Amino acid sequence: MKNEVWAASVSARLDGAGESAEPTPRNPLLDTKVMMVDDEPLMTDLIQTYLEDAGYSQFVVTNDPCNALELLRREEPGVLLLDLMMPRMSGFELLEAIRADRTLRYIPVIVLTAADGAEAKLRALQLGATDFLAKPVDESELVLRVRNTLAFHGYYRQVLDFDAATGLPLPRLFDRGLIEVLQRHDPVGGLVALFSVQLPECRQLRETVDQTLADSLAKVMAQRLRHFAADHRADPLLATSLERAPPVCRLGVDHFGLLLEGLADVAAVEALAHRLISLLSEPVGFGHHEVAASPWIGISLSPRDGSTSEALRQAADIASTHARARGDVQYQFASADLNTRSHERFALGSQLRNAASRGELRLHYQPKVDLAGNRIVGAEALVRWQHPERGLLAPGSFIPMAEELGLIRHIGRWVIEQVCKDLADWARAGHGAIKVAVNVSKAQFMAGDLCSVLRLALFDTGVAAGQLVVELTESVLMDDVAAGMAQMHELKALGVTLSIDDFGTGYSSLSYLKQFPLDELKIDRSFVRDLPGGHADVAIVRTVVELGHSLGMSVIAEGVETEAQRECLQRLGCDRYQGYLFSKPVPEEDFLRLLAAQRGA
Ligand code: C2E
Ligand code: MG
Ligand code: MG
Repeated sequence: MKNEVWAASVSARLDGAGESAEPTPRNPLLDTKVMMVDDEPLMTDLIQTYLEDAGYSQFVVTNDPCNALELLRREEPGVLLLDLMMPRMSGFELLEAIRADRTLRYIPVIVLTAADGAEAKLRALQLGATDFLAKPVDESELVLRVRNTLAFHGYYRQVLDFDAATGLPLPRLFDRGLIEVLQRHDPVGGLVALFSVQLPECRQLRETVDQTLADSLAKVMAQRLRHFAADHRADPLLATSLERAPPVCRLGVDHFGLLLEGLADVAAVEALAHRLISLLSEPVGFGHHEVAASPWIGISLSPRDGSTSEALRQAADIASTHARARGDVQYQFASADLNTRSHERFALGSQLRNAASRGELRLHYQPKVDLAGNRIVGAEALVRWQHPERGLLAPGSFIPMAEELGLIRHIGRWVIEQVCKDLADWARAGHGAIKVAVNVSKAQFMAGDLCSVLRLALFDTGVAAGQLVVELTESVLMDDVAAGMAQMHELKALGVTLSIDDFGTGYSSLSYLKQFPLDELKIDRSFVRDLPGGHADVAIVRTVVELGHSLGMSVIAEGVETEAQRECLQRLGCDRYQGYLFSKPVPEEDFLRLLAAQRGA
């Protein structure tokens, strides 16, 4: 940001802006912080007054040189005016310390010397002084020196800190941001992750085609990385302020860096790595040609892999080189123990991507039973994954991953289509028009295409909308009430039944609950478990049943395992139940056998 201001002001000066009749915009150089270190308060007051008269407004002043380094680091002034002759610590010593410091090294320093101090000037020059100013200070001389130094430094910083092809910060500036992030990092705020991203195509294009094409690819990649970092920052749950730290940088011809803060856990880092890989791998079109980059990512986490910028950079770089050398995984963590687990998940994630098309997903059906007549009145479809090596997996072991990897909509669509196909088959086989519920996750509900997916599946199979129940959890509904409400009305208009799942485990607001067009309320298993002995649970279930009925909903209890629980629920006025007592979720054939047995009975 600062460099843009500097550059803008420099070009404005060169263009002769300010001489036109237009009202002159305020010169942004004047907003630069000017720092002064001089043991004589009179001198610092005088300089400040002169500079204020010239329009400067931001000053950092100390009369004790021993404070100066700390102040410099904290305040990051655009220029330092430094007295040479001071007690306790001379200006020479301070200058030497500044030039030896990695983060302060490039701050321009104007040294205040006696007019005849040739020897002192030479020494200061050797130590890295940017310019000199004679004492006693002449006002116009002072203003000129400060302005020229700031303007020159703007160019200097642009060249020094930014990559010409992509405009991204170079490692020196990135490191400064990284140091800053690490210094103020509060572990409670989440993990800091450094991504070292290798994109070999940027080098290959330069070597096999030409520099221009290589630069164009680097530019596109830089833009994607910037958007990715900005999206991450825009998430209030994940982000903290990264205003001053550049989160993306160009580390080399085919090498980029990305810094992310406020990550909840390692799984969140993994999910971001997956997303970044798909984003960067999307082909880029150049005229008639397409280039698809193959990113290799190394990830280091602070403090696990180091607490300094060097350590983190090195760990992430080594990891990305490992990933590239291995070739079978696109990202590597710096620490070995994370990799083992992560690669398993990566492999599982890739397999999950193809599970539906390979026919590995299965539906099990669990009967919903009428409490009064103890007869099956419907079913809930629950997905399983028949993994080629691991056997039948329950949704708990892959649905969260599917959500993280953005695959849940794909799986959700498969479930809806399969349920409709099964319903049509059952009708043809004479099992009647039974109602079946599908679970819909947040991403699926929020995606906005749920209605069209349902409509299409119903149309293709000829199943009536009234046969489908959509189960939504409280958190899905409460997350974005306005959007949720609109979506629910659309579903109702389609003719499907709406059920609120796991009721009591989320934070439903009663005022919303009465507005939602819901048909069924499912009492969560946790309230059923201790029935009939748990007095609190009896009271809760009784209240929820009354609440549901008074809002015009039917009430079903899930997780019913014992006859005593069933009796209790019946006594409390619950309409239906679902649970191992009657049947576990079973494959289609077994469910149809249950239906047939009921008809025969
Ligand atoms: P849910 O919708 O609350 O489903 C009820 C879960 O309780 C099922 O677990 C079921 O097997 C289990 N259950 C049923 N009766 C009993 C009982 O008497 N005792 C005990 N201890 N458990 C019982 P399952 O099949 O493992 O599914 C877990 C969750 O996974 C479901 O919770 C649902 O949130 C999710 N899920 C399942 N299928 C899908 C799907 O197709 N799409 C989405 N988005 N989520 C799904
Ligand atoms: Mg459910
Ligand atoms: Mg449930």
